[in-house]
Amino acid sequence: MPLSVLDVYKLLPKTNCKKCGTVCMGFAAKLVAREASPEDCPLLLEPEFKENLEALRRLFPKTEKEITGLLIDEERCIGCGNCVVVCEENRLNDEIAHGKGSRMNDEVVLLIVDGKVKLPNPKKCKRAFEPPEFCRACVDHCPTDAIELVSPS
Ligand code: SF4
Ligand code: SF4
Ligand code: SF4
Repeated sequence: MPLSVLDVYKLLPKTNCKKCGTVCMGFAAKLVAREASPEDCPLLLEPEFKENLEALRRLFPKTEKEITGLLIDEERCIGCGNCVVVCEENRLNDEIAHGKGSRMNDEVVLLIVDGKVKLPNPKKCKRAFEPPEFCRACVDHCPTDAIELVSPS
């Protein structure tokens, strides 16, 4: 069932303070349209609204791009695997460190599936650590510019 703006509104602080650039109902509509993140409402970051923020985060989980700042263009990917083997987090895995493919249950950051790169575990990317670590090895070693860095960290 599609999310209703009213249901999302009920989880907001409802002060209409406009610190997010609009009133609460407008912000609820932006969340439903995926044009804003719950964290864009500064009041939700206050302890008083912790449970509301958690509920909204469950409704609007972050995308791979929001978690890592990396944007993958599958059309440009030729499946060469350069990014898979230069990623230090992937190389923590013995098979990849020795130039082989990952095994079924390995929790890798980058993986080639059907000739295209995927990000199955974005939270394992250094850029998603808390605090984030700077890394752009996959971007720098891609021969076709299929991975783009869209947010700094
Ligand atoms: S910042 Fe939060 S509380 Fe203030 S108007 Fe926007 S959604 Fe409502
Ligand atoms: S930014 Fe670094 S850690 Fe993250 S996927 Fe690319 S190479 Fe791996
Ligand atoms: S390095 Fe670029 S082209 Fe090669 S698999 Fe990774 S994203 Fe695809």
